[in-house]
Amino acid sequence: MLGVCKSCGAVNRMDANTALQKKPVCGKCQKEIELHDLTQEVTSEAFNKVLRNSKIPIVVDFWASWCGPCKVYGPTFQEVSKEYPNKVQFLKVNTEQEQQLSASFGIRGIPATIIFVNGKKKDSISGALNHDQLKQWINAKTNE
Ligand SMILES: [Zn+2]
Repeated sequence: MLGVCKSCGAVNRMDANTALQKKPVCGKCQKEIELHDLTQEVTSEAFNKVLRNSKIPIVVDFWASWCGPCKVYGPTFQEVSKEYPNKVQFLKVNTEQEQQLSASFGIRGIPATIIFVNGKKKDSISGALNHDQLKQWINAKTNE
């Protein structure tokens, strides 16, 4: 998986299982890379870096702090991230901070989850999914 450093912007290739055991640090500036389980909050710049460099599918949760269902969905998204170490990359985008990025993918309601395969948007799904729904959707989209 990839870890984008918030301090220097470097994209670090790292092992998800190791990242679950101990906090990863940036290979360039040695600062800690902020992960929540295997999810990370990204700016549009960091998102584009991951999209360009990822060799695995990327699943993105578009959310906002004022959105009630997003608060329910967040922990589910985080839990599910641990079930795909090095197989799927999990990112979170704050739609209030990254309005242009959210608009560019046509997001109207949140939470919205989008999956990218080979650098291209493959599908999107609206609303707060439960654990099994999210897994089934990811499995279906990565096996097509
Ligand atoms: Zn760094």
